[in-house]
Amino acid sequence: MATEVETTLRGPEAFSLARKAMEAMEAAGAWPTPLNYEIWLHYVGDPEGPLGREITRLLSAQEPFTEGTAEMLAAEFLPRGRLSEEIRDAGALLNRELSSVASAIAQAQKTQAAYGETLAGASASIEQVDKPESLRQVVTSLSAATAKVREENAHLESRLEDSTKEVARLREHLEQVRRDAMTDALTNLANRKAFDEELLRACDDAERAGTEVTLSLIDIDHFKRFNDTWGHQTGDQVLRYVASVIGRVAKPPRFAARYGGEEFAMIFVGESAAEAENVLNAIRQEIGSRALRRRSTDDELGAVTISAGVAQRHRGESGSQILDRADAALYVSKHNGRDRVTNGERMRAPAAA
Ligand code: GH3
Ligand code: MG
Ligand code: MG
Repeated sequence: MATEVETTLRGPEAFSLARKAMEAMEAAGAWPTPLNYEIWLHYVGDPEGPLGREITRLLSAQEPFTEGTAEMLAAEFLPRGRLSEEIRDAGALLNRELSSVASAIAQAQKTQAAYGETLAGASASIEQVDKPESLRQVVTSLSAATAKVREENAHLESRLEDSTKEVARLREHLEQVRRDAMTDALTNLANRKAFDEELLRACDDAERAGTEVTLSLIDIDHFKRFNDTWGHQTGDQVLRYVASVIGRVAKPPRFAARYGGEEFAMIFVGESAAEAENVLNAIRQEIGSRALRRRSTDDELGAVTISAGVAQRHRGESGSQILDRADAALYVSKHNGRDRVTNGERMRAPAAA
């Protein structure tokens, strides 16, 4: 996707594409920040790509394009993110480390070779020794050469030790970068990308081993109204709170992710739709029964409620097919009055809209 858009940007359509991006941004009420421009350029250049489809979804949900939205989209979809920079930096460090170790080894090899020559020379000299003075000379030069080799070896050893530490540090750093790339910064739950990978893996495993996989989509009710009343920051606190409740019950092998703005998703491996339904009802009741307070002012915010839809994988189904059915079940929950869980496996065909 990225390369196609970039090629177009240097082609005859470049300016019209740029204009289209600006127009689309203005229509959506997104400020023309450099980051937004980059995002919208990808959107108009490739509306059917993953980023394009996500923007289409946000647009049809009439979600506002805040800076937070832009950052989330960038982290998930833009090609040259922070991630690749960090990896490039780590790669450069690793390269430097390796070449420094390589030159230390080469230096040690040279010293060893010279030592070998010294030894050979010494053994030839010893054969011709006629007086103690010349023997002493041979021994002195031998012990000097030995000391040099010993020093070189000690240097190499400490160099290798440093290097091992440095490589371990880099590995840890890369592991952290990888974790960050899979984590939603606001809620600390897994992000959409991690969720997509996990779902794929769960479906593959289920296909092979015949295990049950159940999926749930969770959406906060009337969250727009909540944001409009209490402000986006308080909305963010609520997102963190809901995520913490979900995260607490999502211990492995369960898996929870922030799926989008105020939507979450859970994967239940080895659990049926009925079991997941119980878990979700417990989450729903816990969230709905808690009177929230705004931290800064201590205002009573009342409770927020959630709606959820549950679908269990049918044989041969792909992740996106289960997702569609979980989404349909969620829609039924919303349609029937919110603050409820709909088990799609029990559901008849949803009422025509
Ligand atoms: P429904 O019950 O039908 O789900 O109504 P809703 O208002 O929750 O749904 P809608 O899709 O109309 O609005 C979702 C809102 O979620 C819009 C947006 O302001 C809010 N939202 C999305 N992402 C974030 C975020 O990261 N932080 C905050 N504070 N709000 C967000
Ligand atoms: Mg929603
Ligand atoms: Mg909602």
